[in-house]
Amino acid sequence: SGKWGRVLAILKAFEEDCATPISKLRQVADAMTVEMHAGLASDGGSKLKMLISYVDNLPSGDEKGLFYALDLGGTNFRVMRVLLGGKQERVVKQEFEEVSIPPHLMTGGSDELFNFIAEALAKFVATECEDFHLPEGRQRELGFTFSFPVKQTSLSSGSLIKWTKGFSIEEAVGQDVVGALNKAMERVGLDMRIAALVNDTVGTLAGGRYYNQDVVAAVILGTGTNAAYVERATAIPKWHGPLPNSGEMVINMEWGNFRSSHLPLTEFDHSLDFESLNPGEQILEKIISGMYLGEILRRVLLKMAEDAAFFGDTVPSKLRIPFIIRTPHMSAMHNDTSPDLKIVGSKIKDILEVPTTSLKMRKVVLSLCNIIATRGARLSAAGIYGILKKLGRDTTKDEEMQKSVIAMDGGLFEHYTQFSDCMESSLKELLGDEASGSIEVTHSNDGSGIGAALLAASHSLYL
Ligand code: ADP
Ligand code: MG
Repeated sequence: SGKWGRVLAILKAFEEDCATPISKLRQVADAMTVEMHAGLASDGGSKLKMLISYVDNLPSGDEKGLFYALDLGGTNFRVMRVLLGGKQERVVKQEFEEVSIPPHLMTGGSDELFNFIAEALAKFVATECEDFHLPEGRQRELGFTFSFPVKQTSLSSGSLIKWTKGFSIEEAVGQDVVGALNKAMERVGLDMRIAALVNDTVGTLAGGRYYNQDVVAAVILGTGTNAAYVERATAIPKWHGPLPNSGEMVINMEWGNFRSSHLPLTEFDHSLDFESLNPGEQILEKIISGMYLGEILRRVLLKMAEDAAFFGDTVPSKLRIPFIIRTPHMSAMHNDTSPDLKIVGSKIKDILEVPTTSLKMRKVVLSLCNIIATRGARLSAAGIYGILKKLGRDTTKDEEMQKSVIAMDGGLFEHYTQFSDCMESSLKELLGDEASGSIEVTHSNDGSGIGAALLAASHSLYL
């Protein structure tokens, strides 16, 4: 019928607009490498900020003592304490708590957000037991993971460049992040020293390196997306400080802000961006990351409903609510292997309040999930390939087989199997059989928390 013709035409056009043939992935990877160079050359030289982390030494394994970590990322924040026992004992004991951030705090005032965090941290500190033993007269120390772009002025200070991922607290932009947390900790009477301020990618890199010396980069695929890697200090023209003894510096790429004419963008991506809290920014993030994948699906379905009567004569009113389809819903549908796609059916029923759907309709929804996730996963792989190219680790040299490990973390990578599988197979496709053998992708579970604690330990006042 005419209706199905129109539905399939929209599906087909969307699929074509999202296409990521290997040639396109190579163009994206090359553009990523070019932008990496530009961002390292000068501040403002590129969409990629290539932020200097002030981390010039990654964990050695010798770190010892009790340290706290706080991870403020997207939807949740985590507090943890860890007792480090050095090379032999490693992580002796570890405890954490996860608190979800009330949405109104994401777009309210700065003090309100930091008070909430400091209060949760103080409550957590109060539950510390004997085992964690803090030596007499010693102040507790904290690694603060803050997953937003920060212009650092030292390892333990920096100001917020901008918010991403649904946060928008105007007065905090340009503010000293450590200062804001310190003041809030004072207000709630919590005595703690912030020893390190790190991006989650940098924390994940540090946590990954603690367990595996071959880790050279970290990538987050969660609410947002970002990457960090170890750069030679001499390859950072914009760095005018003293050359670190290690000769290395960790760079927080802020790759979520990458954009390129080679990115396959659709009408849905353009409207999503236009209506977002940060139009024109974080374009790669808006087609890859967990905050947005479900929303892209909603937008395509809305067009199908409006222009092709996909759900019948009326458009389900729920379908007009932005972000009503979350990425975990999408991955649950994508993962549906039942012959009648009953999970797809029940999700559509629960979320959109459409009581019945035909198998044909469910198949279209499944196809959309696949198109959106595949594009995101393949572009993530292209980004990683771009980093490996920048490092000269994309090909194996005949004699040595230097291994390169990418530490991955984030809810999208962890829970969306089709996404992570597709990302890994696309990376293999880009590398080819031979080079693939020397590249490994590992899941660094909560590496950023451990990583921040480790960096606090190696920058402790009591060394
Ligand atoms: P954050 O990025 O906010 O620091 P996480 O790394 O835990 O936190 O990632 C959370 C994000 O991961 C969610 O916002 C969601 O987009 C995505 N996610 C979580 N669970 C799933 C799932 N089952 N399927 C797909 N995506 C998921
Ligand atoms: Mg996180």
